Amino acid sequence: MTNIQNYINGQYVNPIQDNWIDNSCPANGEVYGQIPNSSKEDVETAYIAAKTAFPSWSQTTLDERSRILIKISELLEANLQRFAEAESKDNGKPISLAKAVDIPRAASNFRFFGNAITQFASESHESIGQNAINFTLRQPIGVVGCISPWNLPLYLFSWKIAPAIASGNCVVAKPSEVTPMTAFLLGEICNEAGLPKGVLNIVHGLGSSTGQAIVEHPDIKAISFTGGTETGAHIARVAAPMFKKLSLELGGKNPNIIFADCDYDDMLETTVRSSFANQGQICLCGSRTFVEASIYETFKSDFVEKVKALKVGHPSDEHTNIGALVSKPHLKKVMQYIDIAKEENGTILCGGNKVTVEGYENGYYLEPTVIEVPTDECRVNQEEIFGPIVTIMPFNTEDEVLEMANKVKYGLSATLWTNNLKRTMRMSNQLQAGIVWVNTWMMRDLRTPFGGVKASGVGREGGFEALRFFTEAKNVCIKY
Ligand code: NAD
Repeated sequence: MTNIQNYINGQYVNPIQDNWIDNSCPANGEVYGQIPNSSKEDVETAYIAAKTAFPSWSQTTLDERSRILIKISELLEANLQRFAEAESKDNGKPISLAKAVDIPRAASNFRFFGNAITQFASESHESIGQNAINFTLRQPIGVVGCISPWNLPLYLFSWKIAPAIASGNCVVAKPSEVTPMTAFLLGEICNEAGLPKGVLNIVHGLGSSTGQAIVEHPDIKAISFTGGTETGAHIARVAAPMFKKLSLELGGKNPNIIFADCDYDDMLETTVRSSFANQGQICLCGSRTFVEASIYETFKSDFVEKVKALKVGHPSDEHTNIGALVSKPHLKKVMQYIDIAKEENGTILCGGNKVTVEGYENGYYLEPTVIEVPTDECRVNQEEIFGPIVTIMPFNTEDEVLEMANKVKYGLSATLWTNNLKRTMRMSNQLQAGIVWVNTWMMRDLRTPFGGVKASGVGREGGFEALRFFTEAKNVCIKY
């Protein structure tokens, strides 16, 4: 059993009320540890530690903050194998993905914001003819809350924590109760890197109790949240009367739009990856595939052939392409959409069944599934499934596909495959999404703004946008 504790004021501690929840392993369905189900009192203790640390941390030089963040990054890299194994076991993702993407990216987040804070400038404006100059102070907010989901556990946790502490805030953070392990291990690394106690505090527990207590805390002035759209709406309602600053990164239902003039082989290979990476449990995965009619039949058979060749297996096997889904309830929710698709006259072109992996019969495995849909308006094409299921359907014109792409409540990302420059610009301008990829997918430059429109969120993370979120702008006007 691997039991974990909260990390408060630089120390590992048990929850005050001695209340615990089970943590299970998606690969075999077994409970392998317990995590604190932290109460309001635990959140308050974490808040006090953060508040106490704030005066000194907010006055710590940028060089020193930068040095500590970069040290955290280096220690994560040095512990890559250990963190990757923990992430894979906790989440069900293939170890190869955790090693190549999740943990390196978490390390990059700390390094990036360690450097970015030394480059973060504010504006000044001279009021010509009025003998005055204005300049903007960028001041840390104080104690901020960071709440993250289970799909990319350390990757998204660090994406919030790194800019929050780089800009001088102190943090009360809660990882998903479904995948708490790497956030737990991070505390050790922060101590070793010399992060002063209280700057980062990590409380574990359920969203409805621990998470809710963070959002309800009157003196936690900003909440950076990544998770489901419904949870985001709930958090916005709770936070609104307290006028908290909010960053909400929410769900998606992203289109892959494929024109006949694209580089076919590159498109095909990338579309398999963008559909099924991390078992389709990435908010940026393409889940609706629109293919120009002239290449539709060719694409359909090539795509299905490649998807059938993906290896579903135990996450610790280096050859596994598709690991386990994160939890039993999630598997059930995802599988319901296969029945819904059938009821809506969708055709299952491949997949659709639970997979039994020998020796791990109770794991949460599902075949990667491709569904041909008769209309873009069916539920499988409109609702976020967040699993290894994609739809495909043909289109005839640019206007038609643009209308279908935009006809969902979400607007996170869109991927476009074409070599036509004018079309690229027309479509990029009109797609309702925070991120448009053209002839690639999930190529991330950490300096760029990241976020969604419509029900996919409010605000932007990434680069200086994140540092702006975690600071208050104060204009000072001096008459001389
Ligand atoms: P979720 O909304 O259930 O939970 C996310 C986090 O919020 C967890 O830590 C949870 O404990 C906490 N939470 C739940 N209820 C809360 C409450 N009342 N108050 C405060 N915190 C609460 O989401 P999930 O199932 O963990 O993650 C999957 C969702 O996340 C998907 O919808 C996916 O699209 C979305 N997501 C979005 C992005 C993005 O960048 N836009 C990235 C990854 C995942």
